[in-house]
Amino acid sequence: KAKAEGRSTYHFFETGMDAELQQRRSIEAGLRLAMSRNELRLMFQPLLGLDNNRVTCVEALLRWDHDDRTVSPAEFIPVAEETGLIVPIGEWVLQQACLAAATWPEDVRIAINLSPVQFRQKNLVAQVKAALVAARIDATRLELEITESLLLTDSETTIAALHELRAMGIRISMDDFGTGYSSLSYLRSFPFDKIKVDRSFMADIATRADSQAIIKAIIGLGQALGMTTTAEGVETEEQMAIVREHGVSEVQGFLFSPPLQPAALANLLHSDAAKKQLRQKAS
Ligand code: C2E
Ligand code: MG
Ligand code: MG
Ligand code: MG
Repeated sequence: KAKAEGRSTYHFFETGMDAELQQRRSIEAGLRLAMSRNELRLMFQPLLGLDNNRVTCVEALLRWDHDDRTVSPAEFIPVAEETGLIVPIGEWVLQQACLAAATWPEDVRIAINLSPVQFRQKNLVAQVKAALVAARIDATRLELEITESLLLTDSETTIAALHELRAMGIRISMDDFGTGYSSLSYLRSFPFDKIKVDRSFMADIATRADSQAIIKAIIGLGQALGMTTTAEGVETEEQMAIVREHGVSEVQGFLFSPPLQPAALANLLHSDAAKKQLRQKAS
């Protein structure tokens, strides 16, 4: 009996692998055509500064409209990275996000996610410069978000590129902080401007004292290192009150705003009524 069970388990596993592989291949094939078919677009999620209750920054988040559905970046970014397609896609994101930011008030920054694969290109810094020049926006309005995984490999050339970008006036943020292997050591490898605390810490912050202690410690760490802190994934009033009390600089999450279509975001940034509503939400 054990043998039969073992075999059926194995069979099940194998079928599962096949389906997954097929799914990846289909994503890969579609993704190769996505750019020429104009299937990629950006959504924009505003971040709220807690000092002054206004939008300090907007994060560009990629979407792919394919086969009657919107594919999540969690699904296609890994495939784009494996195939190298993230290089042209990432350049497009840089260009489009900077062009969008050019239409916003000047005190609002644009945050763009960069994949470690993009850092393997020799000309990443030149690419970033070109995007800023083409959109005619100042380097100080740009924030680049990277994750801990970037610093795992090629760290010398990567860190040199990060220093070059930072010397231009661009801010560098550590995204999803706390999820990697040895987050703390990465904070010594580069003078980040901002730490974005991963949203997994936010989920049970209202019910667990230990999560609250961790958030508090990260915020203190950021302050000691001269880095601002952003709480990701703030969904409830209660979470907002807690992170505010602990002195977080900025919040991002569904409570304040989900990612928005470009027009809705522009409306939020430009209309006084929307701004007033936003301040009420924040207080
Ligand atoms: P991320 O950079 O950490 O972006 C924040 C993610 O959290 C976004 O997911 C956003 O929609 C989601 N989020 C924001 N507030 C809340 C909240 O209150 N609750 C919950 N449950 N989620 C919230 P999204 O748009 O699905 O993107 C997922 C990830 O894909 C991003 O995580 C980023 O790592 C990657 N990504 C997105 N766009 C790009 C891009 O242009 N280039 C690269 N390389 N990666 C990207
Ligand atoms: Mg991000
Ligand atoms: Mg993040
Ligand atoms: Mg994240």
